[in-house]
Amino acid sequence: MTYSNLVFPDIKHLVEKLHFNPEEGKIWLAEQRTVLMGLGALSSFRKEIITTLGMARAKGFFMRLGYYSGMRDAELAKKLNPDADPDQAFLTGPQLHCLRGMVKVIPLALEYDPAKKHFYAEFEWVDSFEVEICRMSLGQLEEPACWMLLGYACAYSSYFTGLDIQFREVECRGQGDQHCRIVGKVASEWPDHEEFSHLFREAPLIDELYELQSRIADLEQSLGYPENLPKAIGEAPPFTSALEMIDRGANAEVTMLLIGETGTGKEVLARRVHSMSSRKDGPFVAVNCAAIPPELIESELFGVEKGAFTGATQSRKGRFERAHAGTIFLDEVVELSPRAQAALLRVIQEGELERVGDDQTRKVDVRIVAATNEDLANAVKAGRFRADLFYRINAYMVIIPPLRERQNDIALLAEHFRKRYEKQYRKVTLGFTDRALAALHDHNWPGNIRELENTVERGIILTDDNSSITEQSLFSMSGNKSSHEHDKVRKINTSSGQLENSSSERVFIDSLSEQILVHQISIETLEKSLIERAMNRSEGNIAAAARLLGLSRPALAYRIKRSQN
Ligand SMILES: [Zn+2]
Repeated sequence: MTYSNLVFPDIKHLVEKLHFNPEEGKIWLAEQRTVLMGLGALSSFRKEIITTLGMARAKGFFMRLGYYSGMRDAELAKKLNPDADPDQAFLTGPQLHCLRGMVKVIPLALEYDPAKKHFYAEFEWVDSFEVEICRMSLGQLEEPACWMLLGYACAYSSYFTGLDIQFREVECRGQGDQHCRIVGKVASEWPDHEEFSHLFREAPLIDELYELQSRIADLEQSLGYPENLPKAIGEAPPFTSALEMIDRGANAEVTMLLIGETGTGKEVLARRVHSMSSRKDGPFVAVNCAAIPPELIESELFGVEKGAFTGATQSRKGRFERAHAGTIFLDEVVELSPRAQAALLRVIQEGELERVGDDQTRKVDVRIVAATNEDLANAVKAGRFRADLFYRINAYMVIIPPLRERQNDIALLAEHFRKRYEKQYRKVTLGFTDRALAALHDHNWPGNIRELENTVERGIILTDDNSSITEQSLFSMSGNKSSHEHDKVRKINTSSGQLENSSSERVFIDSLSEQILVHQISIETLEKSLIERAMNRSEGNIAAAARLLGLSRPALAYRIKRSQN
């Protein structure tokens, strides 16, 4: 088409396709339902998108919005002009832009030869709504601002011609130029066409967020352990011999199994294995298998491919892939689901895994340190743990002693935690009183080192600067309780350790039960007597008596009523 006859066909034929149907709350442009929306709202929305996503992402976002609309209009243009000359028919797109009130388009050049697959176009944009948005809320940009219009032009031209067409806005009033002008060519004729086409690809933020979230979680874990070589504090023989085993095995690449009660510091020791091995510069990833729901454990550990199950909207690496070239610590390994156990065995045997919903095999190089607080052999007998996996991870087993078997280490550890928490809470205390130390010594520590750590932390919080840490501040909640309640707090500590009560308590209950049976005392009589005593001790206060018996108030009231009938 020569430039002189480059004029729009009469726009009337398009205007006639526009139908307002307010009774039904609809506006139609041919077969497209369309909406009228004020520029003010669009302007605020754009500002918000830029604030939320940043300029680059926002640009892609609006270009794609224009792109979708351009695609549909190309379809419309072809339908409306089945017999017209291709050039004339093409101009429907720019006319639709005018009709939609987005911009006035002045054609400057159009060379479209379908046979030769040649395309060149130049348009001037007058009064672009996107320049108006800049004026209203964004201010002058450092780059062309007509994103939606440009996305529209690219999609419309590509879908209309069947060629891959890209436009560039070579001048834009949004960046301070006199005019907005665009140039369109076959994509390959633009040197930066590949980079430009990325703008039309979805770039799900969610993937990036997931990846960042995982990386932060790993970093946070590492920050909790600032020492290069995680300190293993203790001189008690059962502990030092365990430590020797760990240090010897650290560099041997062998799969290690740490067995110990909860709170015995297995993760610190696993980190020590990692830092003493040749993998120390690689990642250390800790996973508590009991903390992840069984239905998610497989995808969490081994990754997931997009579409593997409802909710798997994107592919994700699992912990094993993230631990590549490093060490993974699997705490509570007995909690793994049967499928996860099978996959773990494969990682150990073949050094490979498949993501959930994927059939691609991926190689991973990960050293495994597993841990458990229950006897794995029992779990095998009970059919909860694969025997073949058990033999694989049980090859190098280290038993971590509970704190009650390391009496001499209690003071050492308490001092260690005192220093740590004085630093954290910016306090200087005068240390533990003798009574406090004795109480620390006497306690049974069912929650082990973690319980000791929490106890010392509480003590630091409750102790004023330049004061000594007392027994009360360690073992009571307010530092100001009667010794009776103090005992109760200890009891709570004991029961929250989720371990069996102290052995002396068990012996007492056993012998008591034996005597009750020997004297043929019924449960009812026993209950009645217990309730009476509790009520006496609490001077008739039901709530207080219920607390003594470990019951709720309504539960005790019900029992009292029942025993009276
Ligand atoms: Zn512009």
